[in-house]
Amino acid sequence: MTGTRVKTPKTSTTRSIPARALQASRADVFTESVIREMTRLALKHGAVNLAQGFPDFPCPEELKTAACEAVNADVNQYAITWGSKELREEIAKRVKTYNGMDFHPETGITVTCGSTEAMLASLLAVISPGEEVIVPEPFYENYGPDTVLSGAVPHYVSLADDFSINEEAWKNAFSRTTKAIILNTPNNPTGKVFSKKELSFIADLCVDHNVIAITDEIYEHILYDGRKHVSIGSLDGMQDRTITIGSFSKTYSVTGWRVGYTLADPDLTARIRKIHDFLTVGAPAPLQQACAAALRLPESYYKELAAEYDRKRKILYKGLRDAGFACELPQGAYYIFTDIAGFEKNDVEFARHLIETAGVAAVPGSSFYHEGGETKLRFTFSKRDETLEEACRRMKQLA
Ligand code: GLN
Repeated sequence: MTGTRVKTPKTSTTRSIPARALQASRADVFTESVIREMTRLALKHGAVNLAQGFPDFPCPEELKTAACEAVNADVNQYAITWGSKELREEIAKRVKTYNGMDFHPETGITVTCGSTEAMLASLLAVISPGEEVIVPEPFYENYGPDTVLSGAVPHYVSLADDFSINEEAWKNAFSRTTKAIILNTPNNPTGKVFSKKELSFIADLCVDHNVIAITDEIYEHILYDGRKHVSIGSLDGMQDRTITIGSFSKTYSVTGWRVGYTLADPDLTARIRKIHDFLTVGAPAPLQQACAAALRLPESYYKELAAEYDRKRKILYKGLRDAGFACELPQGAYYIFTDIAGFEKNDVEFARHLIETAGVAAVPGSSFYHEGGETKLRFTFSKRDETLEEACRRMKQLA
């Protein structure tokens, strides 16, 4: 086990296929996902899985009912490739009120197989191989392989130790060769929520350098201490140069449904739709109908969601501190990114030790860096209180 890494390609040495039939390909350039690998290890060792960010509690009843109704009503064939009309209309309404952005369901919204497909389809839609994409670091693991698959050249720009923006470093990162920037707020793994001021600074750089912002906002409703979500696409000059990615996975606790979406101006949307069509044809039709029902939940649903996660965040935070981890309360999303320098093991050794001896799975920090991260470990608190309490009890022996 190592952190997910983008590597130098090698010709495959797989024996069962003649060498001529299997030359090096993009698949040789990155490793499998460490986040998903940790889930398999957690299952193998009976460990509490605080590695992969998905809830172990049920999704809202309304969604289950709507999904069953859709299947029973035979909504079981392909939806329109870029998403059912009903769902795109509901997304447009929600995005207008919550994100302050106007996207026409017919020309600005594409329903995808989760935000994972949305990010890759967006990059494939805007990048010519060899063009540069700025990736703030640490970053969500997928963005490394995403740049490889789309042929982009990643230009990593480090966040400061407190995850704020070093303005000079960011100014230097933007150049004539920059095509796009990948943003993620609230952020996975750091929990950082970018303020309007910070996003305005980034927006100005995008406008000045004619750069497209691809912004992953799937934790937009999971915010703490009164913070407000700001979509960079709603800022001056950004409407036509931003692809905003949303998802149902985290907000409605349905990570296995694989329904997400992109919001972009008609030109970008037309490109994204072409890529999306040939990648997946479309997201699951009955679940799209259920996601439209999710968007009709009352406003109180979102308040309760944030309050629930606030409580869980505090349970895990206390447990980690008691076990000797150095960490801060996150501002948003559902991860705590800890410092393990005090434990005298690197992230990969420590993650293995934690699974095998304490019975708790977390994600090695190096998965979120192109280089470094060996003193970090990420835990998710998207779990039942009992699960978190059990993990904390198990980790106490580390202290
Ligand atoms: N976003 C979640 C995480 O970071 C789940 C990732 C995944 O496996 N799709 O853990």
